[in-house]
Amino acid sequence: MIKVAVNGYGTIGKRVADAVSVQKDMEITGVSKTRPSSEALVANKRGYPLYIADLSKKPDFETAGIKVAGSVEEMIQKCDVVVDATPGGIGKKNRELYEKYGKKAIWQGGEDHEVAGFSFNSSCNYKEAVGRQFTRVVSCNTTGLCRIINAVDQKYGVKKVRATMIRRGADPGDPKRGPIDAIVLNPVTIPSHHGPDVQTVLPGINIVTTAIIVPTTFMHVHVVQMDLEKPATKEKIIEIIEAHPRIGLIRKGLGITSTAEIKEFASDLLRPRSDVWESCIFEDSVSVSDENELYLFQAIHQEADVVVENVDAIRAMAGEVKDPEVSIRMTNEALGFKAI
Ligand code: NAD
Repeated sequence: MIKVAVNGYGTIGKRVADAVSVQKDMEITGVSKTRPSSEALVANKRGYPLYIADLSKKPDFETAGIKVAGSVEEMIQKCDVVVDATPGGIGKKNRELYEKYGKKAIWQGGEDHEVAGFSFNSSCNYKEAVGRQFTRVVSCNTTGLCRIINAVDQKYGVKKVRATMIRRGADPGDPKRGPIDAIVLNPVTIPSHHGPDVQTVLPGINIVTTAIIVPTTFMHVHVVQMDLEKPATKEKIIEIIEAHPRIGLIRKGLGITSTAEIKEFASDLLRPRSDVWESCIFEDSVSVSDENELYLFQAIHQEADVVVENVDAIRAMAGEVKDPEVSIRMTNEALGFKAI
């Protein structure tokens, strides 16, 4: 069993812990919080040993009825791989601790590529992660872009990509961020950072991206256009989507034309926390012009798509499973899902 610690048991960390705990070849040996919270209490209830960054705060946790197993430093010593899911910018400060104990570590997309020197997406570069000490799982948006761009590139060759990210304003459980009533250009400058981030995984791809933020919480939507090298058709692109274990096809006949309906669909499927681990491409949006330009809309559940990527990254770095298809299948099956 691969012993996994999750440093930063928040939106991403709690989902990674639950996904790890159902895998046959890995177990959670600890999770960490900085302050007492309902999430910390749930960690206790799930049976995950809870560690804290500052042991002087232990009485605050105990007052809230939350058991503390020890310090984050102790947690790191007991694991094989640490998944750092602390807020963006904090993770890089933890690298010294992971180096001190010679541990393997995975960071998230809120950190720069340089924190690990290697950026990961299981469908694109799993084999390069096998046995590595440090890896960064790219952001939710970059994960969604990499999945479809690489899949199309393998079959038809992608000359260039132009994509706009329509981003959610905040995660559903976060009452502090917005906007509440605005469409925010984020950034107002063009291009956005998402294109260069895709190139950390797919260096050969010519891509320009733009991004805006809107008052919604559940998902992002991408408007994607790709110029292809070889002639393709709508039907052939749909075959690629159907064959991909992490891309779902929102079929025309379902009548789904919004993120709200995808959320309801995920709830009805009894997905934990309504999580949508796969990118969702709307069948009706897929079109290929006479000039061989591919267009599509895809919806990305920001809290979920990177979770399965973290599980594969753990497995690759541990080194036993060298084939991406095997790892992806193991991860998906343990979670009980097939791309919709
Ligand atoms: P979050 O704020 O929900 O959770 C972070 C957790 O880290 C909190 O539980 C907090 O208690 C803990 N923490 C804070 N400081 C800490 C410290 N010094 N030591 C240990 N724990 C500490 O954040 P999140 O949304 O889960 O984001 C985590 C990372 O994942 C970021 O890099 C972010 O960019 C990335 N990410 C987030 C999303 C998303 O939609 N939320 C999507 C993809 C990637």
